[in-house]
Amino acid sequence: TQIMSRGLPKQKPIEGVKQVIVVASGKGGVGKSTTAVNLALALAANDSSKAIGLLDVDVYGPSIPKMMNLKGNPELSQSNLMRPLLNYGIACMSMGFLVEETAPVVWRGLMVMSAVEKLLRQVDWGQLDYLVVDMPPGTGDVQLSVSQNIPISGAVIVSTPQDIALMDAHKGAEMFRKVHVPVLGLVQNMSVFQCPKCKHKTHIFGADGARRLARTLDLDVLGDIPLHLDIREASDTGQPIVFSQPGSDEAKAYLRIAAEV
Ligand code: ADP
Repeated sequence: TQIMSRGLPKQKPIEGVKQVIVVASGKGGVGKSTTAVNLALALAANDSSKAIGLLDVDVYGPSIPKMMNLKGNPELSQSNLMRPLLNYGIACMSMGFLVEETAPVVWRGLMVMSAVEKLLRQVDWGQLDYLVVDMPPGTGDVQLSVSQNIPISGAVIVSTPQDIALMDAHKGAEMFRKVHVPVLGLVQNMSVFQCPKCKHKTHIFGADGARRLARTLDLDVLGDIPLHLDIREASDTGQPIVFSQPGSDEAKAYLRIAAEV
C-alpha cells in the first residue's frame, strides 16, 4: 500500500451528522453490506432515541436499495440537496437511487469521485446520531477519499475466517491506520455453519481466522456472525434480519456488535 502522506486535506463534517462509522472489507462478497445494514438497524434498535442513517458509497455495486427494500429518485430539498429515502426508520442514500437498477456504472475514476463527493456533500440528512457508511471493497480511491474528506469515528472491518479474505482485511485495517481512522474492530462473518437438521457445526471458511488477525493487529473482534440461511433470505427480500427476526440468535449477534461500537 503506497499512500502518499502529503498531509491530510481539510476534513469537513457532514452537516447534521454527529458520528460516522464506516463498514469496510478487503474483499467483496464477505458480507460487508449485510453487516452495514444490520448494524444500522441494530444501532437504532439498541437506542430508539438515536437517529441513524445509512450511506452506500459502493458505487459499482450498490446493495442498500435491495437490502433495505427501497427504490426511487430522491427528492430535492429547497436548498437543492437530495433527501434520503426512509425505511425501517433508517434514512438511506445510495448510488442505486440515482442510476437504473440494471445499468452498469461504466465510469472513469474521476466520475466515480464526483459521484462520491455528491453522496458525501449533497444529502440533507437532517440530524443524525450515527451515519453508517457501506464502503466499496478494497483500498482504492473511494475509501481513501471518504477517509480523508470527512471525520470518521471508526471503521468496522468485515471478513470471513478464510485466509484470502483475512489477507485483504489486514490491508484494509492498515489503510485506515495510515489515514488516522480508528479501527473499532473486526466482524467475523460466516464464522460457522450449523446444519439445521442434525445441528452439526461446520467451519466452512475455517475457524477463528479473524481472531488470529485481531491478535496480530492488536484489534478487537466485535463479534461473530454465523453463516445462516435466514440472514441471506432476509437480505434478499429486503427485510434485514435485525428488523424481521429481532429475537433470533443471528439478530442478537448484530445487536451485540452495535453495542460495542
Ligand atoms: P459484500 O458487501 O461484502 O459484497 P454482501 O453483504 O453483499 O457482501 O453479502 C454477500 C452475499 O452473502 C449476500 O448474498 C448475502 O445475503 C450473503 N451473506 C452475507 N452474510 C451472510 C451470513 N452471515 N449468512 C448467510 N448469508 C450471508
